[in-house]
Amino acid sequence: MLAHHHPGGGFRNPWPNASITAELGGLLRWRLDRLRHPPPPDPDASAFPLVLPAFHQPRAPEDLLTITWVGHATFLIQMGGLNLLTDPIWTNHASPVPGVGPKRRVSPGIRFDDLPPIDLVLQSHDHYDHLDDRTVCWLEARNPGARWLVPLGLTAFYRRRGVHEITELDWWQETSNGPLTIGCTPAQHFSGRTPWGRNRSLWCGWSVWSSARRVFFAGDTGAHPVFGDIAQRFGPFDVALIPIGAYDPRWFMRPVHMDPEEAVQAARDLGAPRFIPMHWGTFKLTDEPLDEPPQRARSAWLSSGLPLDRFCQLAHGETFVLDV
Ligand code: ZN
Ligand code: ZN
Repeated sequence: MLAHHHPGGGFRNPWPNASITAELGGLLRWRLDRLRHPPPPDPDASAFPLVLPAFHQPRAPEDLLTITWVGHATFLIQMGGLNLLTDPIWTNHASPVPGVGPKRRVSPGIRFDDLPPIDLVLQSHDHYDHLDDRTVCWLEARNPGARWLVPLGLTAFYRRRGVHEITELDWWQETSNGPLTIGCTPAQHFSGRTPWGRNRSLWCGWSVWSSARRVFFAGDTGAHPVFGDIAQRFGPFDVALIPIGAYDPRWFMRPVHMDPEEAVQAARDLGAPRFIPMHWGTFKLTDEPLDEPPQRARSAWLSSGLPLDRFCQLAHGETFVLDV
C-alpha cells in the first residue's frame, strides 16, 4: 500500500501537517469571520489586461516551446510539435451550476473557437475551478482524438461525458506520447465535487519533457517536502508553472494552497530557472485581493536574489516563448 492510498479506499496526503482543518467547522468559522471582518476589496477589472496570444496556429515547430495563459490553471502548451492544455475551463463560473458560484473576472486568454487542435489534456484534480463539465464536452466534440491524462479515480467521470482516450496515472508513473514523456507528480491537496465524495480520486501535478525541454505544472497544492524529489526524478526543468493564489485565511487554506512566498520556495526547491505564476486573478475563491498574489510572489522572488527576468508573470492571453 502506497502512503497516499487510503487503506479504506480513496487517497490522502502522506506528509505531516497536511491535514485539513475540520472541514465543515472550518468553513463555518471562515464565513463567520468574513461577516465580522470583511476581506479587503479587489482592484477594478482594468487591473487585469487581456492581451492577444502569440501561439502558433495550428502547431509550433518541434523545437519551440510556447506557453499561453488562458487564465487560472488553464494553459495552452506547445511542445515537441504537439498542443497540450492544462486544467481546461472556458465557462464563466467555476461551479456545478451554470451562472452560479465564483465568476470569471477576466475573459479566457484564448477564445475557445480560436484554440488550435488539441493533442493532450493534463488534468490535476476534480475541483470545479480545474475540471469543468461543459468544457470537457466541448473539447471532446472538437478534438475526438485528444488523449486525456488524469490522476487515479477520474476515468469514469470522463467516460460518462463521452471522452474516448483516457489514461489514468498514479504519482510517479509516466507515459509517452509521440516525442513527449509525461510524469504524474505528487501534490498536497484534496478532491471532491460533492460533500459526500471527498478524496475518492487523486490530485497531482505533471512534468512534461521532450528531448529539448522540460516543463513542470504543479496543479493545486499546499507546500510539501518533495518538490526537490520531483526535480531529481523528472527535471531539471526549464520552467515551472506554480499556483500562487487562493491562500487567505492561512489557518484554513495553508494545507491545500501555497501562499506566494511558499510558491517561490517551491520554485527554488524545484531548481526551476523560470517561474510562471498561475491560479490567481481569474476566479475569486478566497479572501486575499485578486491582484495581491503576483505582487507578493515578485517581492519574494527578488528577496531570494533571483533575476527578475526569470519571474515570468503572464497577463491573461500572454504567450511565453522559449527557443532551443
Ligand atoms: Zn483544488
Ligand atoms: Zn484550484
